[in-house]
Amino acid sequence: MEKEIGELHLKDSGKTCELRAKIEEIQQTSGPTLFTLFDGTGSLVVKAFAGPGVRAFPELKEGSFARMHIMLHVYEGALEGELQKASLLPPKEATALLQQIQYSLAKKASPPTTKLLIHSPLLEQLKPRMVAFATAVRQAVMEARPIIMRHNADTDGYTAALALEQAIVPLIISHHDDEKAQWHYYRRSPSKAPSYEYGDALKDLATTLQDMARFGMKEPLIILADFGGTRDDLLSLKKVRAYGAKVLIVDHHEPGDVEKYADVFVNPHAVGGDSNNCTGMLATEIAHFINPKCQLFLFAAVAAHGDKVSGPEVDQYVAKAGELGFSEEFLKNLAECIDFDAHYLRFIESRGLVNDLLLSEPERQKQLVEMLITEITERRAAVLGAAKHYVEKVPMRNFIFGIVPIANVTIKSEYPAPGKAIGLLFDHLKEKQPVILFGYGPDFITIRSSYSGFDVNVFAKELEKAFPHALVCGGGHQVAGSVHFIEAALTEILAFSRKYIERLN
Ligand code: MN
Repeated sequence: MEKEIGELHLKDSGKTCELRAKIEEIQQTSGPTLFTLFDGTGSLVVKAFAGPGVRAFPELKEGSFARMHIMLHVYEGALEGELQKASLLPPKEATALLQQIQYSLAKKASPPTTKLLIHSPLLEQLKPRMVAFATAVRQAVMEARPIIMRHNADTDGYTAALALEQAIVPLIISHHDDEKAQWHYYRRSPSKAPSYEYGDALKDLATTLQDMARFGMKEPLIILADFGGTRDDLLSLKKVRAYGAKVLIVDHHEPGDVEKYADVFVNPHAVGGDSNNCTGMLATEIAHFINPKCQLFLFAAVAAHGDKVSGPEVDQYVAKAGELGFSEEFLKNLAECIDFDAHYLRFIESRGLVNDLLLSEPERQKQLVEMLITEITERRAAVLGAAKHYVEKVPMRNFIFGIVPIANVTIKSEYPAPGKAIGLLFDHLKEKQPVILFGYGPDFITIRSSYSGFDVNVFAKELEKAFPHALVCGGGHQVAGSVHFIEAALTEILAFSRKYIERLN
């Protein structure tokens, strides 16, 4: 009897059925040939054996449409089939099936809900982009397109990526009716750099091309969370797109002019907003569109604490997390713990570890946080003590200018890293008066400011202009960011910086 793949269940093991489907992927093993079938309602892997390593049913090609007789059975917990008979569909019937598949894909790809979790006129404006993002993700899952998640390795980046992961992984498992599918069709990589580095882009392409050649995989959908929208990302974006990858970006940093290199670009700056809607908050909303079961208020609230953002949206997420029993102090501590683990995990995926901090039962969650937070507090106090000792404070009329050799007051590769240490010193200094704080290392200055007459991005551009020979690049938010340059230029750039700041006075 003719069936649709979506109708088949594990209990059908042992039965034969007739299917009409598209051959999505063909993989030749050293034993049987594996065909991945898709009919718009679901996917099914069927095997056929014509001899060890011999291609069975050579008339079936990737992309062809066929009518098949299949014996169903269960293999390692998932439903599979044995291909017994196959005949190509006549052109008319194939076209009709293709249309049916496209129609059902489009219908299934559109998000089941597009209602925001909070009230926000700004996010309403961003909504069409968030809906497009969610649609592209759902479509990728249904097309069995591999999803590569790249995210900033800080609390905001982690919560953003993990919120999306919470939405995506269950969809993949249910689409393939196979727990293991999550390891084939989804992977996640944290990134220490604040941009999609070219080396990472090449790594993604290299594995992708290999999977395409070996397993007949499709071009990937690449998601960049909490970075990806600046000029530093441009070459990587161009490169992966040249190989057919789709790119979705969710970010809240001041974007460069790269929007046209993303298939979907979700960034509050694009609709007149600012960085206060951090990536974890945006991703929480998108995750809810992708998979309405995901209402991850804790993720959004922790992200907001991690990035120290504020505004009406933040208040609502924090209030909702409060209703779930999470105090502001706990949110803050949890944000610190994620940042701490992120520091040591570096580029390791660790599906499970950081998720545990966010998703464990309340009792275990409390234990995990308590275990780390004392250590974190002590280490921060120690580094703050060192930074306070070595910071040079230049009093100005309206603010204090602080300069500290931040790379030399932290311990290499230990927590807290220079970027974190500068934040600690900044929080300490800004209590008394507005402050512009420069922390430098051999080839960078990382900047924090609470003085309204200063803008990191303006400063970065001035620096670039003044030192065309120093390969200056960087920027960030108006009040926080960093610039990089060649080591040879450090002394003259520091001297220029002092004069620049004096002029603001
Ligand atoms: Mn962020």
